[in-house]
Amino acid sequence: MVLRELADGQDAEKAKDTDLKVGYQGELGAYGEVAAAANGGIPQGFASFEKLLEALRDGEIDEAVLPIENAVVGAITEALEPLADFVCTGMELAAVSLTSVPVRLSLAALPGTPIAAVKRAWSHPAALRQCTHRLAQMGIERVVCYDTAGAAQIVAHDASTDAAVCSRRAAERNGLEVLIDDVSDKEQNGTRFVHLRMADHARAQVSLAFLRTSNMSATGRLDVLTGATLLPLAGSTEHPVRIWVLGADAARLQALAPVRDVQVISLGQPAAHAAKVTPPKQGTEPVVKSLPHATARKAPTVVEVGPFRVGAGARAVIAGPCSVESAEQVMRIAREVASCGATALRGGIFKPRTNPYAFQGHGLEALDWLVAAGKANGLPVVTEVMAVDQVKPVAEKADVLQIGARNMQNFDLLRAVGRAGRPVLLKRGAGSTVDEWLGAAEYVMAAGEPRLILCERGIRTFETATRNTLDVGGMLAARPLTHLPIIADPSHAAGRADLVEGLARAAWSAGADGLIVEVHDDPARALSDGEQALVPARFAELARNLALHPDARLPLAQLRAWVDAIDHDLGVLVQRRLEVAKVIGDSKRQTGRAVLDPRREAAVRRTYLEALPGSKVLADKLVDLLLEAAKAQQSIDED
Ligand code: PEP
Ligand code: MN
Repeated sequence: MVLRELADGQDAEKAKDTDLKVGYQGELGAYGEVAAAANGGIPQGFASFEKLLEALRDGEIDEAVLPIENAVVGAITEALEPLADFVCTGMELAAVSLTSVPVRLSLAALPGTPIAAVKRAWSHPAALRQCTHRLAQMGIERVVCYDTAGAAQIVAHDASTDAAVCSRRAAERNGLEVLIDDVSDKEQNGTRFVHLRMADHARAQVSLAFLRTSNMSATGRLDVLTGATLLPLAGSTEHPVRIWVLGADAARLQALAPVRDVQVISLGQPAAHAAKVTPPKQGTEPVVKSLPHATARKAPTVVEVGPFRVGAGARAVIAGPCSVESAEQVMRIAREVASCGATALRGGIFKPRTNPYAFQGHGLEALDWLVAAGKANGLPVVTEVMAVDQVKPVAEKADVLQIGARNMQNFDLLRAVGRAGRPVLLKRGAGSTVDEWLGAAEYVMAAGEPRLILCERGIRTFETATRNTLDVGGMLAARPLTHLPIIADPSHAAGRADLVEGLARAAWSAGADGLIVEVHDDPARALSDGEQALVPARFAELARNLALHPDARLPLAQLRAWVDAIDHDLGVLVQRRLEVAKVIGDSKRQTGRAVLDPRREAAVRRTYLEALPGSKVLADKLVDLLLEAAKAQQSIDED
């Protein structure tokens, strides 16, 4: 099995994270403790799986181990159901590795107890299920308690002839005598534990996905197509059947699992590199210590203003002019960027200029123009404040307060915006380290504002071909250190319009939570930063590349260009599909397998139906065409 190899292969590479706090459910001596210690962490027991998952969510532990599958009884529902509940209510988790723990379930009682006197055996329900037949043969009744090691404790404190089903270790720790070494119904019993951490978007982990599928027969298809282990659980109408899929990545499942009454939850494929991932504490600890707000280990912060959302997978595109030059100018540009799918409007009213004689911004008057343009186009507005006395009047009307790169360490200003009751966009200083940037964020947060967006906007290097150097590496290095959303500003990094799109796409692909881009409809006459402004058509092109939404307000020629580009992409994709299909055909032929697979065809059909909801005829026609072309490529004659 693919996964088993993965799991076993990881052992050699496992980073020994000695400081890692790894939670498990149960008492000392439980099998969970063995799994929790497998990678060298510090095991910490919890009374229930709910408490364990809460501790992970709240950052009390770095990792949680949960038993998911046992050799005798299959899926461990006691752990999977609470896990499903947490995943379904939005907890974002990633499976980082698997540990197989051999299970020897001993029957243990107080020293001197004859085996014939044992009438009842205590243990965790999952452990008891693993010994159903053996215990029944001996006429021993099963008594459920919360944990195997807990069962040993109960029996040790109870002057009876009851026994516990637990590990030898737990028996010995509690002074019990082992009567039978292994009462499992099956030899070589074992349990697989999954190691879970909070999802970390920058590390491209496969998050635990939550999907639905139409019926149980679909699971057979999933099994075949994903090579995954399926863990089906019983269900009812109110509580739908849940199927846990171990080893398939979320994207593949998405394509394969169509609909409604069965929930399929993927535990993800532990990425090959996942075992090497060290937690932030190991080596990447910020040099600036004690930043309890900015570097707290918690779920990603989502900054929200009305429909605008950034963080935890929600991505922002903030666009607009460098400076608000007039009411008309900002209204025109707002309309353009809104129609391309921008999610917020930017525009400077106080401008930090190197030359004191350069345009300094129209000040508070321009704030009204900006706000009006935002309102008219349904966009919240972001604008920079440069001085403490500007904070209050700007915060009365603007939705997000920007701290510019030059003011990143203006600590009085940071405190003032932290008290203003508005979300803050904090640019990284051109000469600041990642730690200093996080330190600045801490100032704002310590003053009371938790809604912070960090923005990488280029740092000063020896390079003069660009205005600054977009530090994608610094942005990625900041990612595991903070829960705050991190966006990129390709405009101030490039200083040249021709480089903006490339940098924007680089940052977007690297996982930035969003972008802030300068757009101007007459860059040659712009009062500031004209040379780096994208004209609306170029911004529309960028928006298309990022798959933002188009709008009927765009000129027809522009929409046509957009469609042309999509058609070109479609053609290229079809060509690639044919190439891959041919390789699959060749490979099947070489291994002596049938090239045609009707189940596979049905799956392809469902994929297209999913992608084209409401267009069944089109989906069918496309599939017919594609399959026909693929068969021709694979030189198969239909008979
Ligand atoms: C701006 O966003 O217009 C600006 C001045 O940016 P920065 O502070 O990054 O230079
Ligand atoms: Mn600017």
